[in-house]
Amino acid sequence: MIDSDSSMETFLVTGANRGVGFELTRQLLNSGQRVVAGCRSPDDADRLTALSGDKEHLLVVQMDVADESSVRAAAATAAKHFDQIDVLINNAGILLAGETIESIDIEKMQRVLDVNTIGPVRVVKYFLPLMTAGSAATNRTGRIINISSQLGSLDLNGQRRCGEFSYNASKAGLNVVTRMLAHDLKEQQIVVVSVHPGWVRTDMGGSQADVSPTESAAGILSLAKRLTAEDTNKFFTYTGQSHEW
Ligand code: NAP
Repeated sequence: MIDSDSSMETFLVTGANRGVGFELTRQLLNSGQRVVAGCRSPDDADRLTALSGDKEHLLVVQMDVADESSVRAAAATAAKHFDQIDVLINNAGILLAGETIESIDIEKMQRVLDVNTIGPVRVVKYFLPLMTAGSAATNRTGRIINISSQLGSLDLNGQRRCGEFSYNASKAGLNVVTRMLAHDLKEQQIVVVSVHPGWVRTDMGGSQADVSPTESAAGILSLAKRLTAEDTNKFFTYTGQSHEW
């Protein structure tokens, strides 16, 4: 078990091997925080494992958010190394482009919902004991940040690209998960929010996107730092502005 230092917090980031998740992990380690970095294939995550200058601050765990036994095992491994998780960032996600109601493949849609909507529920379920240990041990509220999307906003759906049928539904569902968790975890001093990370230049966002992973991750982490109990049950942009549900 690693000793606690009150100036440090412990973060869990899912989908940490590339994109926004990798950048979140890189910036957290650079700022001296501890990170449990979940990824599906640690053996192929060379860039992630290379971040481990101080091995005690980075724990890479195998975690497929669509696989309950994998999430359960990752939580058990994390509990052997850290006595608490202060901030959980549900970042892992997938997107299918070019879907229409005529062409939609229902099995693929189920997969998108399984990863983007149910995945964060699995992660919270199995990491909750570590999170409640954190909020009980410190004066700081625990924080769960669900990386959603503006495409999950009920107000904006239909006004934007409509080819991401499954993705939009999955992120709208994730926003409902955020609101349910915010309600259910209030007494346990855990704040739960959704965040739109911007249109980010990653494998998912593509090279034409207008926000760099560095900028997106910095904004998300700045928000994570300042979230208080009053912020629970809200939808933010990565710049910390309020987003319509
Ligand atoms: P990305 O570059 O495609 O990276 C996605 C990450 O999720 C990868 O690490 C991937 O791991 C992981 N992942 C996928 N399925 C997984 C599973 N079943 N279990 C665990 N990890 C899994 O995407 P990104 O742009 O960084 O997106 C990060 C988050 O931001 C996502 O939730 C996305 O929906 C959201 N978002 C992105 C944008 C954008 O413009 N990029 C806009 C709005 C919202 P593998 O390498 O193993 O596949």
